[in-house]
Amino acid sequence: MAYQENSTMAYSAGFGHVSATMVAVLTAALALGASGTLCRAQEVALEPPRLAADRHTDAHIAEAIRQVSADHIRQTIEKLVSFQNRSTISAQDDESIKAGKGIGAAREWIKAEFERHSKDCGGCLEVKTDTFTEQPGERIPKPTEITNVYAVLRGSDPKQADRIVLVTGHYDSRNSDTLNGTDPAPGANDDGSGTAVSLECARVLSKAAGKLEFPATIIFLTVAGEEQGLNGSKHFAQMAKQQGWKIEAVLNNDIVGGNLGPGQDASLVRVFSEGLPAVASDAEIKRIRMLGGESDSPSRELARYIADVGRSYDAGLKPLLIFRLDRFLRGGDHYAFNQQGFAAVRFTEFREDFNHQHQTPRKDDVNGIEYGDLPKFVDFDYVAHVARLNAATLASLASAPAPPANVKMQTKSLDNDTTLTWDPSFGSIAHEVVWRSTNAADWEYAQTITGTTRATLKVSKDNVIFAVRAVDAAGHRSLPVVPEPER
Ligand SMILES: [Zn+2]
Repeated sequence: MAYQENSTMAYSAGFGHVSATMVAVLTAALALGASGTLCRAQEVALEPPRLAADRHTDAHIAEAIRQVSADHIRQTIEKLVSFQNRSTISAQDDESIKAGKGIGAAREWIKAEFERHSKDCGGCLEVKTDTFTEQPGERIPKPTEITNVYAVLRGSDPKQADRIVLVTGHYDSRNSDTLNGTDPAPGANDDGSGTAVSLECARVLSKAAGKLEFPATIIFLTVAGEEQGLNGSKHFAQMAKQQGWKIEAVLNNDIVGGNLGPGQDASLVRVFSEGLPAVASDAEIKRIRMLGGESDSPSRELARYIADVGRSYDAGLKPLLIFRLDRFLRGGDHYAFNQQGFAAVRFTEFREDFNHQHQTPRKDDVNGIEYGDLPKFVDFDYVAHVARLNAATLASLASAPAPPANVKMQTKSLDNDTTLTWDPSFGSIAHEVVWRSTNAADWEYAQTITGTTRATLKVSKDNVIFAVRAVDAAGHRSLPVVPEPER
């Protein structure tokens, strides 16, 4: 395709600190012959770029997330706590299940909940289990059966149903002793809250699926084994990798109870994301260093996507992006997915109270502290807000076209403009080029490109970071893809 370097179009309107360079030129292919080889280029001046922080809200998704119920979440968490000890090494024999005690009873109840939600939507959910035996290890004294329970809301578009977005929480709990499977381990916040988010998203989005079409598949997962070493999520992520599942996003909710205590900020939920991908090879690390791509892992783009959803929908709180894999001395299930090359982030309340997690319930008369992860320390409205943000993110991603493939940035010659090319995404009607200063945390500008898969912007690739995302007719955005340099 021919391309003219000397654009004459210019805008006088200012756009902040890079105003003079804020001109985009679209190279449109015209008169495409039957052979597909005849191609005449024409430059078309584009609308000025808009701010990437602009809201784009789907009224149907906004309505769906309003159905999230704090009361329903409270019932879920109280029910999970009633199983007394949900340690992965706690009881799961038939008698204990019947008595409603131990992780086996919790597992059966979660399964029944998913099945109930499925019944309410005419069988729209496939309820499944992933069971395996974990061999003895540091925190597993004897061979132990571990079961992940999940529900699949299959995508409505056969061409896109293999794309998957996933929400997860861990339903196992622990008390002060990781090897104690009998004394109370209520785990209301850690991670009854995350389990409740997964179940509530399943309830609300399966109901909405009748009205809202989700072309891509949504999986609602609850795992066990987290406290013993991420065993459940490791197994699930490995299975997904081995079976070639196209998981585009994993939302891990762990300790999203909004612990009611001093210093909590109920208007924020932290979203942790890895910088350098866990799976990056030495060669990839070298390339990331060369390009200044340290803050553009797929997980980080997912975190920015959540920030965008947080601006576009009224979830009741805002995501606070933490550019770090996890908190100090702690880990979580998102990392098991990162290790298999999937984009995965962790949601955690703004401020944790370590007296109210991983503690055997007790009262210390000397210091007056009540220890234990009890429902009375959970802010159910807060959990509902986190569930809304998760549901809006899942719905947005599952509604959106696939991220564009083969995104390239031309670096054949020294040039102050930037030319990007990509393959069109199925289901898209347009694409957006987004960019930000290299020292900015989030996307700053967005330029809509229609009718072509090639764009030249009067913005220097040396000074900013670019990405391209696909947009459908209703305005749903895909995850953005950072271009590969092409020489
Ligand atoms: Zn946890």
